[in-house]
Amino acid sequence: MHGPSTRTIRFERQLAGVACTAEAWARVPEAPSVDERRDLKARIKRLLKERSAVLLAHYYVEPDLQDLAEETGGCVADSLEMARFGRAQDAPTLVVAGVRFMGETAKILNPEKRVLMPDLDATCSLDLGCPAGEFSAFCDEHRERTVVVYANTSAAVKARADWVVTSAIALDVVRHLHEQGKKILWAPDRHLGAYVKSQTDADMLLWHGACVVHQEFKALELELLKKEHPRAKVLHPESPAEVIRLADAVGSTTQILKAAQSLDADEFIVATDNGMLHKMKSLMPNKRFIEAPTAGAGAACKSCAHCPWMAMNGLRNLAHALESGANEIRVDPEIGRLAYRPIDRMLAFAARRSVNVRPSGDLAKDGALFKDVGPA
Ligand code: SF4
Repeated sequence: MHGPSTRTIRFERQLAGVACTAEAWARVPEAPSVDERRDLKARIKRLLKERSAVLLAHYYVEPDLQDLAEETGGCVADSLEMARFGRAQDAPTLVVAGVRFMGETAKILNPEKRVLMPDLDATCSLDLGCPAGEFSAFCDEHRERTVVVYANTSAAVKARADWVVTSAIALDVVRHLHEQGKKILWAPDRHLGAYVKSQTDADMLLWHGACVVHQEFKALELELLKKEHPRAKVLHPESPAEVIRLADAVGSTTQILKAAQSLDADEFIVATDNGMLHKMKSLMPNKRFIEAPTAGAGAACKSCAHCPWMAMNGLRNLAHALESGANEIRVDPEIGRLAYRPIDRMLAFAARRSVNVRPSGDLAKDGALFKDVGPA
């Protein structure tokens, strides 16, 4: 096992990641006025056409960006589908409304395309908490282990991995490796790693990262909320174990959508980034969605269940990136080549298992696609 000094460095890194959220919140653009918002949306639509660009928006970005993506032939999805959708387009330019690792993944899968983002400083606490140099040294200390990293990592960390996984395929991949007798080094989300370990019994050494949004859901407050809404179902992906224990369904963003449709309930407590509620409400207008509690005893963040880096994406900086060509994602070609392999391995694995890891956002379709995928 790794020594105390290495652990200390990792813990400090994680604290640094959490501290950065204050900086990110300070960078969140002010909401435009009604008139400016209308003008910006029209301008973005025109620019997307003029620049032959496609907009790929994550489920967690603000509703206007999600709507624009859908209205202009782009997509609203998770990070992998954003990249794969982008690869299937003829358009030479992809605009990724999300966080930086998503732009990098899009570039790795589409090296010939130009990839723009509204703000290149929009990052992720999982990515921040797993710097490539330290991670590589950690891998060197455990060369006997197969390195499995979550999609929420930099291109350089992916380049050091044997496998990249999304939450939709993590259990299947780890089970497969466990059956082959492999020991696993998992990074960076320790909560998702602990959950996968508990479900597969695999020998997993976990990196100590966490998502600042999911980390904040509180079990005690959630139990109180469940008492108020006894028919509600709790849905959440990478949260602490004591929160996961209270869940009726655990799953990736797309699996959450599917569960909300298929479970026998008309109200749901949702423990994930509240950006998801826009999609849930628009797909299921007759159901009620309640945000899971983040505040309360022991909470470090009272800002609500929303990712500050996702919130850095707005109409103004999106229009600016399109207009000026600013904020282009660049990935070193050699790192991109190395990072492509573990992503491609996952895609080939998913195809062999007939598991489509490309959620479309269409519940009927996604329900069938994910019927054989385990939770996580
Ligand atoms: S919600 Fe969490 S995992 Fe997603 S981008 Fe934000 S910090 Fe990263």
